[in-house]
Amino acid sequence: MMILMSRNATEEEIQAVVDRIGENGLHALPLPGGQRVAIGIPSAIPPELRPLLDETLSVMNGVDQVVHITRPYKLASRDFHPQETVIQIGGVQIGGGICAVMAGPCAVESYDQLKASAAAVKEAGATVLRAGAYKPRTSPYSFQGLQKQGLEILQAVGKEVGILTITEVIDPHDVELVAQYADVLQIGARSMQNFPLLIAAGRSGKPMLLKRAPSATIDEWLAAAEYLLAHGSDQVMLCERGVVPVDRTYARNTLDLNAVPILKYHTHLPVIVDPSHGIGHARYVPAMALAGVAAGADGLLIEVHPNPEKAMSDGAQSLNPEAFKELMSKIAKLKSALNG
Ligand code: PEP
Ligand code: MN
Repeated sequence: MMILMSRNATEEEIQAVVDRIGENGLHALPLPGGQRVAIGIPSAIPPELRPLLDETLSVMNGVDQVVHITRPYKLASRDFHPQETVIQIGGVQIGGGICAVMAGPCAVESYDQLKASAAAVKEAGATVLRAGAYKPRTSPYSFQGLQKQGLEILQAVGKEVGILTITEVIDPHDVELVAQYADVLQIGARSMQNFPLLIAAGRSGKPMLLKRAPSATIDEWLAAAEYLLAHGSDQVMLCERGVVPVDRTYARNTLDLNAVPILKYHTHLPVIVDPSHGIGHARYVPAMALAGVAAGADGLLIEVHPNPEKAMSDGAQSLNPEAFKELMSKIAKLKSALNG
């Protein structure tokens, strides 16, 4: 529910509405706009309370209109948070016109492999090192990641090379542990609706990257983001990584670039594009990375491996350091053309 105050509503009238909402056991969130103030109620309103609230609030002085919001997300919505969220982590900005590039191998495989990856992506201009220590694999016989040892390597390499780190957490019980080792937590596509995981991750207070599940609608994805926000997180990025394709002959998934402008319009959260999982073949990744930037993405998540043929997971979609460097220079040119 959103209460739109009239343009000339006084401070006292606004406060009276906030107090009345509070008397009903609900939290009111005043949202000053250019012309007038809106007051949001971000939590769920018990159905029996709705008609009463509607009636009592709409006749209060200074109230113009009471609007019902039927979307499954509120805190993630631009209605509740009109200005875009800019995430700052240790000197790195994500959002606010900067295109942050997070790059690295699919998985931490060894200290040497990660060190070589980190050095290469940093040199090319990436600001965050990506690498999974816990790998959610389709087959239980595939490489599952180095787990805690992987986290230790990730943290050590991040410090040595001087680059922020992002890694996936797949189990709610591991959130605290992963949060100790990495700068940003990644919630993977397969975990998007693991609600206990979202709650634990939200409570960690860490910056978060929430991937879209392969069959999730935009509303389901934003409702998942709402879990993170409702449980205390205020630094959430949304990552489009491809949805279920019509045809898997040529691409692993279909990168839904429609999602970028749609999300930028409806939410205030930074939007990241992952062309690697989106298309699934290294030769096509640069084109889709550039398309993501052109569509307005606030960042990219790209798999880069020092030796993709030897990668223990997702080698086929991983760029080698040279291809990544070339892509980074094209991204810089595209960004300056778009800004110019
Ligand atoms: C990954 O980033 O390596 C990963 C497992 O991605 P997704 O959750 O999008 O499949
Ligand atoms: Mn991967």
